Amino acid sequence: MRKLNRAIGESLKLLYNYRCQICGENISARYGVNIVESHHLDPFVKSLNNNPENQVIICPNHHRIIHRARPVFVRRKLIFVYNNGVEERIMVNQHL
Ligand SMILES: [Zn+2]
Ligand SMILES: [Zn+2]
Repeated sequence: MRKLNRAIGESLKLLYNYRCQICGENISARYGVNIVESHHLDPFVKSLNNNPENQVIICPNHHRIIHRARPVFVRRKLIFVYNNGVEERIMVNQHL
């Protein structure tokens, strides 16, 4: 299996100044640390796609929610659609 190169994700985190692309928050900044994460829209283990357009930068809360709730990502609208009908938009975007 190909090893994940984290350099692209790290540069994307910097691009967004460690803010979540969904909620725009960086709650950890006041503590002097960064805990934002990179999520692969097409799971990397299946797609092996580590390109920037397959990654979103999101906070740990949104990351956990997405993995638990498994929303559908509608790329042309930049929204996650959850099973319960909730839609959540990528608010901050400079690379998708
Ligand atoms: Zn968030
Ligand atoms: Zn993920």
